[in-house]
Amino acid sequence: MILRCELGKVIEEKIEKAALGEIVYSLPYDVNEKGMFSENFFVITHKNLISISNDEIKTVLPIEKVEKVKAVELVGAGRLEITCDSICYPVAKYTAEYMPQFAMVERIIQEILDGEARAHESFEESKRCPNCGRNYLRNTRICPQCSDKKGMFKRVAAMAAPCKNLYIIMLVLFWLNSAVMLLAPEVQKRMINDAITNPDGKLSVLIFFVVITAICNILTTAIGIARRIVSVKASNRLVKDMRGEVYSKLQQMGIGKLESKKTGDMMQRINRDTMRIGHFIQNIGVMAVNEIILFLSVAVVLFVYNWRMAILILLPMPFVSIIVNKARHEVRRRYHTQWRKSDKMTSKLNDILNGMRVVKAFGRENWAIEQFAEVATEVKEQSIDNDRFSGTIWPIVRFLVGFGSYFVLLYGGNLVANGALKLGDLMQFSTYASYLYNRLDWFAMLPRHLSEAATSAQRVFEVLDEESDYDTEEKKGCPEIKGDIIFKDVTFGYKSYRSVIKNFSLHVKEGEMIGLVGHSGAGKSTLINLLMRLYDVDDGAITINGNNLKDIDRAYYKHNLGIVLQESYLFAGSILSNICYAKPDATVDDVVRAAKIANAHDFIMRLPNGYDTYVGEKGYRLSGGERQRIAIARAVISDPKILILDEATASVDTETEAQIQEALGRLVKGRTTFAIAHRLSTLKNANRLVVLEEGRIAEVGTHNQLMEKDGIYAGLVKAQRTMNAMNFNADEGGMGGRRRGPGGRGPGGPPR
Ligand code: ATP
Repeated sequence: MILRCELGKVIEEKIEKAALGEIVYSLPYDVNEKGMFSENFFVITHKNLISISNDEIKTVLPIEKVEKVKAVELVGAGRLEITCDSICYPVAKYTAEYMPQFAMVERIIQEILDGEARAHESFEESKRCPNCGRNYLRNTRICPQCSDKKGMFKRVAAMAAPCKNLYIIMLVLFWLNSAVMLLAPEVQKRMINDAITNPDGKLSVLIFFVVITAICNILTTAIGIARRIVSVKASNRLVKDMRGEVYSKLQQMGIGKLESKKTGDMMQRINRDTMRIGHFIQNIGVMAVNEIILFLSVAVVLFVYNWRMAILILLPMPFVSIIVNKARHEVRRRYHTQWRKSDKMTSKLNDILNGMRVVKAFGRENWAIEQFAEVATEVKEQSIDNDRFSGTIWPIVRFLVGFGSYFVLLYGGNLVANGALKLGDLMQFSTYASYLYNRLDWFAMLPRHLSEAATSAQRVFEVLDEESDYDTEEKKGCPEIKGDIIFKDVTFGYKSYRSVIKNFSLHVKEGEMIGLVGHSGAGKSTLINLLMRLYDVDDGAITINGNNLKDIDRAYYKHNLGIVLQESYLFAGSILSNICYAKPDATVDDVVRAAKIANAHDFIMRLPNGYDTYVGEKGYRLSGGERQRIAIARAVISDPKILILDEATASVDTETEAQIQEALGRLVKGRTTFAIAHRLSTLKNANRLVVLEEGRIAEVGTHNQLMEKDGIYAGLVKAQRTMNAMNFNADEGGMGGRRRGPGGRGPGGPPR
């Protein structure tokens, strides 16, 4: 993100001449005041806010007069609005590309207005390689052109090191195989010269050579089997190790980093990319050493036997290398495109499968089929195109590589006909030549394998190289957690330039229950996310019993935290294993106690398999209310000191809600509790209600105090009462006793 760009001499002189102050920030943007694309700049000096279009200063607003700043997000475009003397000036218009930059401008100006100005630097967010300007591979920061492939393979080799004995065995087997291969044409030559074409040849000699040939074949088959067993073992171990490392790296990443990654893409890295590296090591890596040695040995043998014929074999090579070089670039480009498309297809598939309930609910199966068919068709077409290209170019290359053999046949055949060369010698030479061609053929395909493996290795290492968010956890302390929580000037934004929580300060005492209230998007869940330490605060601190949350061991802290969310996720497994999730060493008595607190024991006992009942993937075999009560049992089993209830009763009917509320009433006793609920009546037990507005505390107090104040909270309560009355009337008119929609807030319902 550019925060200080070159303005050019003309503009700088104009700013200086008009004494508008020293330039602190300067950013480009793309739409002028008439809505036309043009070259524009927004400049912040230490005195003024200036917009410039086509080298002309258009607006100058003194900072001291600025009352409000807002980067307004429109559809596909944005506008920076600055209010001075109660007049709102739209000082800059820009397309979506510039929105993050102007969100940052809003933040910078707001900080100046709040008297908290700090220096912000430009930072890199580009999707292009700064070196060559090419696009990075999709969802990565890998430049296909500039990446260090040698370094990649060194790292792969280092990862394969634990299996080095297996690789040494593979090498030895390869060499044995090569030795037998080099011996076979010699046997063949003697058999033809001494036994087949020799009029005095004896049958016993022929039998001897046939037996030797058979032994050679048996040996190569046996070596091939042994080599395969060893290589499969080595490569699978490497793949397993890599998968383990990538997976544990993902577990060590904070939720912010994980959210920025696509599930499908990550699955591809764990599955396909590691597999490709393993395949490369198994079939290409070790073999390359062997192929090079075999190639050189055969070349020496050929030149020693007959240097003229050896030169004839190599005659087409210069042309072949030119074609291979050109084809290599084209193949690489095509396969990168294919991968990009295949990544897109996986992501789409993942997205649709995750949202299958919504697809079914809206009857959009055809849409889902079309969506997938579209990306699958793209992959199919690209794949056919690539295979057609490869299927054409490589046979041509192979034919050209082998073209020298025609010269050898012509030249050598002539020598045999004239009696200057024996037939066995020519056959031996031709067999060695075919070895050479096979090696050359193999080398021609090598760039493609190298390119595939290098890209996969880069994709894997990119994850492994991510900074781990949890890696220093062992050093953290495990102080006693009683539930006294202080938020001190907490500021946080999912994007560095847009704060969602702003200077939030609150002292919550042990055992207190806080109800978080506010309009949608006010920042309630974000505050809970910070308390759960899914994200770390940008500024300020959260302390638990006097200890900074960042200094507390994460696992220990989570053990003291009980969480019940609106959509409780249950893992595929038994009810017992799901309740034990928060306390793996829990006894059956612990589980039953937790289930009883959660009002879940009775319904569990009514199930045919009781606590051993399989809940299905995501717990789909249970009702929403049953899932929720199991989630409460899971939250309570470790006897946490801090409890978080985020819309815990939102997606259940009134009767179930009463049971859950009763369970929660028992649960919150003696624990510090944060509860978000859009049905404000469910927060009646809260000691204090904290009303959030745009990430700041707007009101704090009990229900009665806030109603008396007649502010935001009172407004929300009144709106909800009106809505409830409307729902009740509608219910009376035949809608039944159940709330409509989750939590009874239908479309357009009152804000929380
Ligand atoms: P609601 O009552 O609708 O759940 P809320 O008060 O809990 O709203 P938050 O979910 O905390 O609000 O969201 C506050 C702001 O942060 C919103 O503008 C939202 O778009 C943004 N936001 C929330 N989660 C993310 C995220 N993972 N990445 C980026 N922005 C986010």
